[in-house]
Amino acid sequence: MPTNPKTGRVAVITGASSGIGAAAARALAAHGLQLALLARRADRIQALAAELGDDAIAIAADVTDRDSIVAAAERVESELGGADVLVNNAGVMLLAPFTSAQRAEHRQMVEVNLMGAITATEVFLDQLRDGGGDLVNISSVAGRTARPGNAVYAATKWGINGFSEALRQELQPDVRVTVIEPGAVATELTDHITDDETKRATKRFVKDLAITAEDIAEVIVFAVTRPRRMTLNEVLVRPTAQPG
Ligand code: NDP
Repeated sequence: MPTNPKTGRVAVITGASSGIGAAAARALAAHGLQLALLARRADRIQALAAELGDDAIAIAADVTDRDSIVAAAERVESELGGADVLVNNAGVMLLAPFTSAQRAEHRQMVEVNLMGAITATEVFLDQLRDGGGDLVNISSVAGRTARPGNAVYAATKWGINGFSEALRQELQPDVRVTVIEPGAVATELTDHITDDETKRATKRFVKDLAITAEDIAEVIVFAVTRPRRMTLNEVLVRPTAQPG
């Protein structure tokens, strides 16, 4: 699978079982990085690791379960020599009117999208600092805009943006921090919306204009393969036809 020479760098991707995470794994492997694929669906990440060959390992992990992330970091250290790149990509977008009282989903979004990224960063930080690392946080257009029906999702992504900018200042020059804010991307993300009307409307919106997970994967690869003297701090990537 890898088409470029091996770089000796190791990338850890959370939410590598589908969508942007899986596409990023393929793209980074093709650029010579070794991969640690993290997600809850072990069958998916094992199949992807098998596709990528010796350059990838699959580690079943839930970003809301700190112990599973600590165990993943131990495996990355012992089997791959530690992480050079962490892509905080795991996320859920359970859109619904705030008044629909989907309180468990509100908490799930905060736990996965925001606390999950914070936890993975805490756990992998020492590995990233050792030798010049890259932290890539997958935010969203919803991290810069807000609209009815996405209050808590937007809160998590605005949170990721603030988290990223503070860390950028604090961790330089040891760790470069990049936040990527995709617009509509065709993935499984909308499948999990439980509010029927919101799900229909969101799927229709995405279907009409979405870019691909591979488009975002290319941005991730570009960011982490720049010379160390520069950093892509913040990248907003909308489909050309997406207005807001
Ligand atoms: P997918 O639904 O395809 O991917 C989401 C990934 O997150 C899956 O691999 C899933 O793996 C993982 N995940 C969910 N919950 C957990 C958890 N508790 N622990 C570990 N992994 C978890 O959607 P996308 O690829 O679109 O989403 C990736 C990121 O991109 C998200 O952060 C999303 O907010 C962001 N984004 C997406 C946009 C889009 O339009 N698609 C636009 C802007 C941002 P598993 O279920 O196996 O654990």
